[in-house]
Amino acid sequence: MGAQQVAERFAELYGTRPEGVWAAPGRVNLIGEHTDYNDGFVMPFALPHRTVAAVSRRTDGILRLHSADTGGGPAELRLDALAPESDRDWTAYPAGVAWALREAGHAITGADIHLASTVPTGAGLSSSAALEVVVALALNDLYDLGLQRWKLARLCQRAENVYVGAPTGIMDQTASACCEPGHALFLDTRDLSQQQIPFDLAAEGLRLLVVDTQVKHAHSGGEYGKRRAGCEKGAALLGVDALRDIPYAGLDAALARLGDEEEVVRLVRHVVTEDERVERTVALLRAGDTRAIGPVLTEGHASLRDDFRISCPELDLVVDTALAHGALGARMTGGGFGGSAVVLAEATEVDTLTKAVEEAFAAAAFTAPRVFEAVPSPGAHRLL
Ligand code: ADP
Ligand code: MG
Repeated sequence: MGAQQVAERFAELYGTRPEGVWAAPGRVNLIGEHTDYNDGFVMPFALPHRTVAAVSRRTDGILRLHSADTGGGPAELRLDALAPESDRDWTAYPAGVAWALREAGHAITGADIHLASTVPTGAGLSSSAALEVVVALALNDLYDLGLQRWKLARLCQRAENVYVGAPTGIMDQTASACCEPGHALFLDTRDLSQQQIPFDLAAEGLRLLVVDTQVKHAHSGGEYGKRRAGCEKGAALLGVDALRDIPYAGLDAALARLGDEEEVVRLVRHVVTEDERVERTVALLRAGDTRAIGPVLTEGHASLRDDFRISCPELDLVVDTALAHGALGARMTGGGFGGSAVVLAEATEVDTLTKAVEEAFAAAAFTAPRVFEAVPSPGAHRLL
């Protein structure tokens, strides 16, 4: 969906042209799962799917919000009445951003916003971050706040954690705000340092497929919290601030110290080996050996399935079928219990592979998956 189209709809809704139009993408995580709340490494890249927002300032303390994807007329909120966890509707995401900016001392005096998105919601591709980041960038530009991208990502995370009330790490917002086309973003979630790692699949005759299983993830549920608490317990038992502090070379010794804490052993093993897999992926991509990351992705899936135990039959079926039909590597991506998997494959194998996955799903009587190609795309930017 184009910038002009969103601007025109804005004009119909609010009676004037918008001051500007911005876009922010969804993301997929190449590797580095459940490492973000352990101060570890993640490696997302931006999708071509994006949320586009047309925005104008107001001076009367009112926020008007409209989404092409939800129906109904514009919602109207008073900025000085915004309060954390007071809104259970989608409007909590953009309102939370305005709230977080104001709370940080920035003089936002209102806005009219109309947006439309091609990011599937609830598929683990971070439509929530795309929504937050597009609003944050628009307000940053219109109100001339001069905030850096990483800072905008932080404020968006605060909006989601505190205002919406969803406990998420910093990866999604940073990816949406900071990714660059043809690159994956190597992010250290401890100090937020980031490096753009070349990941130009097309140039190498490769493709990365995203397979959305259409199984809705539910991390707000207890499972995410349980894993998180288990990781914290592991860090406490091992006397470190976060599992990030256990070096890969010291993993066996650390696991031995955990003794018969079987559950914690499995969680710790996943997190420590996953950080190592991210570092290995970075080294391979830097060396131009993109095909060699395939087996690293597949190892990551085994770890999430067997140690972290957050896969599901649909995700396992994608991975197993893809590997059996010539994929270089495959893994579930995102929080788990559904959502999407990524498959790295030769461009020439894509059709066969896609067909094989679709047939396997039909044979298992699972809902048909949505398969699309993920091209590493630009992070948030102004369109008009
Ligand atoms: P994910 O980020 O994985 O897509 P979340 O549950 O974190 O899933 O966020 C999805 C929620 O974000 C939706 O239920 C909706 O409230 C909000 N949202 C995302 N995109 C839009 C949109 N274009 N219009 C309205 N709400 C949206
Ligand atoms: Mg989300």
